[in-house]
Amino acid sequence: MMSEVRTRFAPSPTGYMHIGNLRTALYTYLLAKKQGGKFILRIEDTDRERYVDGAVDVIYKTLRDCGLNWDEGPDIGGDYGPYVQSERMGMFKDYAEELVKKGKAYYCFCTKERLEELSAVQKASNISPMYDRHCRHLSQEEIDKNLAEGVPYVIRQAIPEEGSTTFHDEIYGDITVENSILDDQVLLKTDGMPTYNFANVVDDHTMKITHVVRGNEYLSSAPKYNLLYEAFGWEPPMYIHVEHIMKDAQHKLAKRDGDASFQDLLDKGYMTEAILNYILLLGWAPKGENEIFSLSEMIDAFDLSGISKSPAIFDPLKLKAINAHYVRAMAPEEFKEIAVPYIRRTCKRSDVDLDLLCSVLQPRAELFTDIPEQVDFIDKLPEYSTELYNNKKMKTDASTSLDALKKILPILENLGEFTQDSVHDALFKLIEEMGVKNGVILFPLRVALSGKQFTPGGGIELAVILGKEDSLARIKKGIELLENV
Ligand code: GLU
Repeated sequence: MMSEVRTRFAPSPTGYMHIGNLRTALYTYLLAKKQGGKFILRIEDTDRERYVDGAVDVIYKTLRDCGLNWDEGPDIGGDYGPYVQSERMGMFKDYAEELVKKGKAYYCFCTKERLEELSAVQKASNISPMYDRHCRHLSQEEIDKNLAEGVPYVIRQAIPEEGSTTFHDEIYGDITVENSILDDQVLLKTDGMPTYNFANVVDDHTMKITHVVRGNEYLSSAPKYNLLYEAFGWEPPMYIHVEHIMKDAQHKLAKRDGDASFQDLLDKGYMTEAILNYILLLGWAPKGENEIFSLSEMIDAFDLSGISKSPAIFDPLKLKAINAHYVRAMAPEEFKEIAVPYIRRTCKRSDVDLDLLCSVLQPRAELFTDIPEQVDFIDKLPEYSTELYNNKKMKTDASTSLDALKKILPILENLGEFTQDSVHDALFKLIEEMGVKNGVILFPLRVALSGKQFTPGGGIELAVILGKEDSLARIKKGIELLENV
């Protein structure tokens, strides 16, 4: 029987959640949940130089907001803790010494100066810097003497001197590298602390992780990890390396691009569900046509065979289209609750029918942050050019528009009730009598009421939103402007 699937997301607390990392978290979560397994959160905070206060909370909050709830982790515990890497430090020395005993690792007493000199010489000769294995063949007496004298040391991995190492990746298949290109990397530092490359192997094994999803910047380290598993006699996890997210064909999506972190996208007005849905598709293709997935639908649909081997390019237009889908699918009350604060940034009038305004905004809304600009004409008619009345498609120009507004004005003036139905019926009666297309009447009305060619809702809705008095004043203003053309 296959053991329980246990996947882990192992972020370093950098202070922000890059969407590439969030995607790794999502795939990791889906992989576990798809198979009824456990999703584990491990904080990899051993790189103290990169440590930022509050950064762990960013990780917790992002994952929770996205619904990627973990089954074991620093805050909730579990059977394989601690779940913060810096709290696991005690055990690594023993593991490193176990490898020394097995002949798979060795003490290295080289000084910093010697190593710097070595790497300078290698660089000058265009050789990629690699440890020259100086300490690998020290005699037991020399080693014992150094240890007894307290000479500082690191423990290095003893890479086989010949042959090759193969590891299996679920996406890329078998990858084989010559051992001669693998460095005898440091496993345990002078201060007794593990390097990342050592810690992640021991942590994954001791936490019984069965699948590791990570960015493919780790592909080149994977053979060394496999050799470590082999050296311990442990079974390696299944590897799933995922491709980078690119800004364009040449550049990775970086924090400075402003689209790279989850928070950047929230700040731009994207909804959490839409972001998660979009990043699912950044590197994974569904089998069918449907691209809209809730988290639970993702669990059903996700499979490793859909993961892409080529880099994904971040496409803001596609993200916007997915966001639009989520905005339009909201219940009207839910939309209103979120939309009103955006409306209120530019529209302060208290007599506006917010339900009506929201009902015209929602079907066209893509992003909530677009709303303030869409409704900025309501409080005050902006200055506008009569050029706006020229519209080929609507078959309107200054003269037809002047005629239309002059006809509309008395009709609206004489309306008792000023509702969507009454305005609609009155204006459609006029359209019918004139035997013209709707746009000939309704488009000039929209321009006159808003000073814009594009608005949420058409002339009829705008008139009702603005109210009779304001609408009449704006129509008169339009007539005045057109008479002077
Ligand atoms: N802490 C590493 C990172 O944030 C995790 C890499 C891994 O998944 O092993 O890049």
